[in-house]
Amino acid sequence: MKEVILIKNGELALKGLNRRTFEDILIKNMKHRLSSLGKFTFTVAQSTIVAEPESEDIDLYEACERISRVFGIAAFSRAAAVEKNFQTILKTAGEYLADELNGASTFKVEAKRSDKKFPLQSPEICRETGGYLLGRFPHLSVDVHNPDVTVNVEIRDEYAFIHGSQIKGAGGMPVGSSGKACLLISGGIDSPVAGYMMAKRGLELVAVHFASPPYTSERAEQKVHSLLGQVAKYSGRIGLWVVPFTDIQEKIKDNCPEDIFTVIMRRMMMRVAQIIAARENAGALITGESVGQVASQTLHAMICTEAVCDMPVFRPLIGMDKDEVIAISRKIDTFDISVLPYEDCCTVFTPKHPKTRPSVGYVEDAEKAFDFEPMVLEAAEKARFINIYAK
Ligand code: ATP
Ligand code: MG
Repeated sequence: MKEVILIKNGELALKGLNRRTFEDILIKNMKHRLSSLGKFTFTVAQSTIVAEPESEDIDLYEACERISRVFGIAAFSRAAAVEKNFQTILKTAGEYLADELNGASTFKVEAKRSDKKFPLQSPEICRETGGYLLGRFPHLSVDVHNPDVTVNVEIRDEYAFIHGSQIKGAGGMPVGSSGKACLLISGGIDSPVAGYMMAKRGLELVAVHFASPPYTSERAEQKVHSLLGQVAKYSGRIGLWVVPFTDIQEKIKDNCPEDIFTVIMRRMMMRVAQIIAARENAGALITGESVGQVASQTLHAMICTEAVCDMPVFRPLIGMDKDEVIAISRKIDTFDISVLPYEDCCTVFTPKHPKTRPSVGYVEDAEKAFDFEPMVLEAAEKARFINIYAK
């Protein structure tokens, strides 16, 4: 028996004329995510995409795992694809869904008929299939409002599809459908979650990480690779730029007031990140900042950081509590990596008494103490590129 995966678009369905483009991007993303498992053929009918494996030995369980993390999908299910003969359909429903039905006490049947030439209409398909299944699984009863299992029969052009209850998809929009943005990623809990959230809104990610060897170790960078590998399960491949940041940090430490060290450092990061973002055709920056979380994220400090940005800065965690962020990081499996204890460049030279209400003027004056512009350009120039693929 042939098996396929049926995929229901999420918000895509709302996009009118753009829908085709969105579907194309979604299919391209699914192809990428499934490519190492084998070849699939994709066809689109109404708001359903059918992914048909080209050979029988493809691991559909793993394929569904991967599809569950592709953005732009409202729901999906594995389905049996059979010829449009009603006896075959009944028999398949009984066999293909036997495990699910044996484990349930109530069910209902839903039918869709896009092939109007099929001799039975949807209500008859439901009635007949329900009757057949009640005969075959006498322990079951019908519950049309809140069934344990919904048996779906879809009569389409080429096949009839039979499947059980659908699995909820990752939601959001297909990655790449909203453009590209540059994620500033530390080794912490917040920034991987921020990247995940913006990828969910359809942004392709390119990442920038600031490393300050010898203060930060090789393992701290590896940790960022691992975090992005996890995010890439949702966003697809992420290009990572690792920026050498030691010289700039030492210059700030030696020349600027200690109480605004972090704010100045964050402004330097934004300057470098914008150069890389422009080079990468990314239209915005993404950070894991949240109001009031630390001294460098007070409103005043963020005004100082924002003052050097010419492009929009997306801060999807801005109004979230730490425990809300942690819940997402656990869901996307970044939490356990984030809490590994390697130094980040932010924790090097942290001031003992950071100023929580710095003003832009005060910070700009302090920055005049050294000629930072060539250093910023050089850091962007010397950044190292690594492609990070889903783990
Ligand atoms: P996170 O958990 O993401 O590390 P945080 O609460 O530790 O965040 P900060 O260290 O102040 O906060 O950093 C705020 C934001 O600045 C981070 O979310 C991230 O977007 C960016 N950032 C911090 N350190 C780095 C770094 N080494 N490289 C790139 N971006 C960084
Ligand atoms: Mg951090």
